[in-house]
Amino acid sequence: MSKVLYEKDIQKEVLQAKKITVVGYGSQGHAHALNLRESGYDVTVGLRPGKSQQKAEDDGFEVLPVAEAVKQSEVVMVLLPDEHQTKVYEESIKPNLEAGNAIAFAHGFNIHFSQIVPPSDVDVFMVAPKGPGHLVRRTYEEGGGVPSLYAVYQDVTGNAKEVALAYSQGIGSARAGVLETSFQEETETDLFGEQAVLCGGLSSLVKAGFETLTDAGYQPEVAYFECLHEVKLIVDLMYEGGLENMRYSVSDTAQWGDFVSGKRVINDETKERMKEVLKDVQTGEFAKGWILENQANRPQFNAINALESNHQIEQVGKELRELMPFVKQPLQKEQKDKQK
Ligand code: NDP
Ligand code: MG
Ligand code: MG
Repeated sequence: MSKVLYEKDIQKEVLQAKKITVVGYGSQGHAHALNLRESGYDVTVGLRPGKSQQKAEDDGFEVLPVAEAVKQSEVVMVLLPDEHQTKVYEESIKPNLEAGNAIAFAHGFNIHFSQIVPPSDVDVFMVAPKGPGHLVRRTYEEGGGVPSLYAVYQDVTGNAKEVALAYSQGIGSARAGVLETSFQEETETDLFGEQAVLCGGLSSLVKAGFETLTDAGYQPEVAYFECLHEVKLIVDLMYEGGLENMRYSVSDTAQWGDFVSGKRVINDETKERMKEVLKDVQTGEFAKGWILENQANRPQFNAINALESNHQIEQVGKELRELMPFVKQPLQKEQKDKQK
């Protein structure tokens, strides 16, 4: 098994001596900046004027334009949306990096797919929390943390790995476990996971189940509870104790149904499709499509997004959730604040 590192394996001094700039104050940015500061590191936030700037200032940070923030720091963590990173990097980050500085990312996409080509005289590392930014913050405040992957792409100073580990410690990940990866592995597994299982796979499974029931004449409300609402309850059980824990908790009838019917839905053919998805990720085909889609101002993304939000499952869900105020967990409230 790979070696998972914890607080006791990590030295803070190597990063405590440095000035860190967190560029961006969104989902990951606010969590990294606040957690690092509370862990005793020196953090400045780099931003353009706007909503996030106000939020970061309200949280007590010194907020500087990105170029200035980069100039006065030694470690620059880039936490902008992936599709905006290249432009900000070229205009404001690259011209202000000095030899021996470190540039860091929370996802390997832009480095791995050559959208950002860093100068050869800086360290390049990644600390990728395996959870949404709002949980990186919330679990830290609760005394826990979200596990992270770390990777070193370029080590000029000889201590890029130690700096990456200290950074993981600073955001609270060393409380949960920190595991080494490469930019390639993190990028490919992250893209595959969100496409085939977490976002694409799961939302398609939920919709297909909902449509099968409503097409057969069952009430949409019943189909919603069965195919979407209950997913969380099942996933919580898996999260806490694996598949075995979920199967222990459901009825034996449900468990038997799981055994005999699960593989009729997700089968070898599905796995062949997953392999195709993985191949598109590995060959850069997916990345190319996404980069071009952004350059074209997202015509397909926006059209599909509009179609999806009109799906019956979304309409029914909206009405049912209004009647279940307890479903509104803090994370949803935080997301709403974020959108304001
Ligand atoms: P967000 O969309 O939440 O980041 C938005 C932030 O970037 C805002 O503060 C916004 O400021 C700022 N921003 C956007 N464009 C610019 C610009 N041109 N100049 C300056 N600031 C700008 O990003 P995420 O936190 O979701 O993602 C950041 C990185 O973390 C990505 O690499 C992502 O892959 C990675 N990651 C994200 C996870 C997540 O939970 N979301 C999980 C793991 C990794 P303004 O208010 O001014 O628009
Ligand atoms: Mg991702
Ligand atoms: Mg049931």
